[in-house]
Amino acid sequence: MTTASESPIELSTRLVDEGINNVAPNRITHELSELGDNLALIEAFSHVIALKTDEGLVAFDTSSSPSGKHVVAALRAWSTDPVNTIVYTHGHMDHVGGSRNFASDARDAGNPTPRVLGHKKLSDRLDRYAATEGYNQAINRRQFGGVPQSLITQMGNSGRPFIPDGTLRPDVTYETSLVETVGGVEMEHNYALGETDDHTWTWIPSAKAITAGDLFIWNFPNCGNPQKVQRYPLEWAQALRAMAAKEPELLVPAHGLPIAGADRIAGCLDTVASTLEKLVAEVVAAMNTGATLDEIVHSIKVADETLALPYMRPFYDEPEFAIRNIWRLYGGWWDGHPARLKPAPDSAIGAEVARLAGGAGALAARALELAEAGDFRLACHLIEFAAVAEPESNEVHSARSEIYAQRGKAETSLMAKGIFRGAKAESEYVITGEVPEVKMKIALLDPS
Ligand SMILES: [Zn+2]
Repeated sequence: MTTASESPIELSTRLVDEGINNVAPNRITHELSELGDNLALIEAFSHVIALKTDEGLVAFDTSSSPSGKHVVAALRAWSTDPVNTIVYTHGHMDHVGGSRNFASDARDAGNPTPRVLGHKKLSDRLDRYAATEGYNQAINRRQFGGVPQSLITQMGNSGRPFIPDGTLRPDVTYETSLVETVGGVEMEHNYALGETDDHTWTWIPSAKAITAGDLFIWNFPNCGNPQKVQRYPLEWAQALRAMAAKEPELLVPAHGLPIAGADRIAGCLDTVASTLEKLVAEVVAAMNTGATLDEIVHSIKVADETLALPYMRPFYDEPEFAIRNIWRLYGGWWDGHPARLKPAPDSAIGAEVARLAGGAGALAARALELAEAGDFRLACHLIEFAAVAEPESNEVHSARSEIYAQRGKAETSLMAKGIFRGAKAESEYVITGEVPEVKMKIALLDPS
């Protein structure tokens, strides 16, 4: 339980020290907490960290478009100083999407638009998002809302642009690191490959504090995301070790809780870094012996004790996806299975398997039995063969809907749950002809 009077730091100290893992650490309250004399945290889906200087505020990130006006209101209740600089930790929409609210806040007060600092690759990311607008709309709505592949055009577009109109682009960029002083406060911005290729973490020596962006998220690292571009686990670990070398006394990530205390921070950073390093070492060692992706995915695991830590639970991403991401990074897209190098169309495989099995109905019945016995992996293969063999069959789709409903519940990660919810919605559409409603699930760190 959290208590109303408990500060985010008191809560994180308790969770880390006592290993409590049944409290959701990412709280979308839009409330501001002071973390030090001139430093504050506004908790949202993605947080804003605010620093007071003699020449105005520095804001690390701006939260998402829906949170923008709330985080600006919370900031304004704390300080009426103009925002001098916005530092983007990276270019994900939940970090930059609220920037237009910072711009309008400045405009309303007659202040200049804040200076925006970010890594030089951040603008390339925004360009890529603009080029893949439809895809990004769809995958985010699948990840958080269970929108199926086949209904992308009906359900995939939120009606709003993926990059909100008025989102500020960086006007100050750098390559590897940048030390600057704003209003008497020194900041060292450092580039890191990790979750993204455009991350910035900042060391603030006067506060002995680090803003970590998404390099620490109070969840198993977002290092395998099945629908998104390459992640860089080893460089990620190196960035966490570079943070630890600063011996910070305060670590403020963009999701989850701030962590205080040099030893506590060092321990948490080392755990995440070591987990990533071990996973890379094991996958690469197996690749070097000629193992296939199938063998690797089904043999390499992250220890349950690690995944039970309050800041390592696999509720957003999960190790199995990270393993695939490592294979893609050091190998290629081919998984080592000769039939899958140039496969037959799914529909042809499904039709052939259904014929051998005695029809799609027999496959669906066996799939339900396997699901009943808890073997969802195998059940899903069989039901997919059945669904492509008889794409209009209510019998097949009602089994499919049931299997994916159960499988979604059995999974831990939001990414797996979203995709399986999408498959369930797709079958429901076949049966009812009604396009399902999208319910976006953003409380991603909630164990439910
Ligand atoms: Zn994020």
